[in-house]
Amino acid sequence: MHIETKAIHAGRRVDPLTGAVSIPLHTSTTFERAADGSFPTGFEDARDDNPTRKAFEDALAVLEGGSTAIAFSSGMAAITAVLEGHGGAARVIVPDDMYFGIRSLIDETDIGTRFEFIAVDMRDLDVLRAAVSRAPTGLVWVETPSNPLIRVVDVHAACQIAREAGALSVVDNTWATPVLQRPLELGADAVVHSATKYIGGHSDLMAGVVVLPQGSPLERPVRMIQRHKGSVAAPFDCWMALRGLQTLPLRMRAHCAGAQAVAEALAAHPAVESVLFPGLPEDPGHALAGTQMSGFGCMLSFVVRGGAEAAMSVAGRLSLIVRATSLGGTHSLIEHRASVEGAKSMAPAGLLRMSVGLEHPQDLIADLHQALALA
Ligand code: PLP
Repeated sequence: MHIETKAIHAGRRVDPLTGAVSIPLHTSTTFERAADGSFPTGFEDARDDNPTRKAFEDALAVLEGGSTAIAFSSGMAAITAVLEGHGGAARVIVPDDMYFGIRSLIDETDIGTRFEFIAVDMRDLDVLRAAVSRAPTGLVWVETPSNPLIRVVDVHAACQIAREAGALSVVDNTWATPVLQRPLELGADAVVHSATKYIGGHSDLMAGVVVLPQGSPLERPVRMIQRHKGSVAAPFDCWMALRGLQTLPLRMRAHCAGAQAVAEALAAHPAVESVLFPGLPEDPGHALAGTQMSGFGCMLSFVVRGGAEAAMSVAGRLSLIVRATSLGGTHSLIEHRASVEGAKSMAPAGLLRMSVGLEHPQDLIADLHQALALA
């Protein structure tokens, strides 16, 4: 079955009680016992399980080609559950160009002291191999394309290196989504998502998911963290995410086409020093992305000539593209990452990161052109 069809049907069916085609939103926090004390529907307490959340989890497991999905209240809750649940060595290899939320988790919570994080450029497989062989390693954490440098990491090779070293590999597939990249098929031991982004798709829900293959050692600990530590995905967010999922393949194609057009226009502009986007043939990640992704993604960064001040004033002149953090919604968003991330940021001073939305690409290009004209 094709992903467009799975996105609409997986985890759902016409409601047998009412004939409703759209899956019902179940808000009940508790479920009735039978006279013998059993729970005939399998549902007992909404923190343990809930029909709407279960449908979302089942759909995500199918889309990623996994066996189980476990939904949390945010992408960060899903990430934290994998870190806390993996049970292996406390040494975790992360990308040096890591999502800033993980940097903050390390720097500002106990996660940073309970685990040892080693940041490497995973594009260099020898560097990754050396990092995992230096000491027992529990997890290799892969983000591709990366944030905000839009680097592409070889998922198959990185997962193989992790396996040979006795570590579990985890791929954050938020940016690519299962429409463009399926890490479990490339050898990953786990996939995490911020469903807040493309899966929801409209910047109006917050949720996260861990997807695991059959027999994963992570399944029980991550499920127990979901149940007992309590950061479960809310039924309404799951219902909205299921709604979003139905158009995910269509939206991703439109996002990708828009990003490609915007990247090409920016690359041709004299006020732009460089464009970081694997869809451009000269990008270092172009060939690799072509082998492991079915599209080049919808996130790009570009460096404005003149540094931070010039970049900030370009962002300040935009009238259609919204100055806001996050990504994956219908609105195009732009952000000066160096000022958001502070001293540890790998973003060049003139870098603006853009989440290309679903507006017509020519309107986005016109907005960028007028903002860049004075740069
Ligand atoms: N992973 C990636 C790659 C992200 O970009 C983000 C948020 O931007 C997250 C995880 C965190 O997700 P959430 O905002 O749902 O906690």
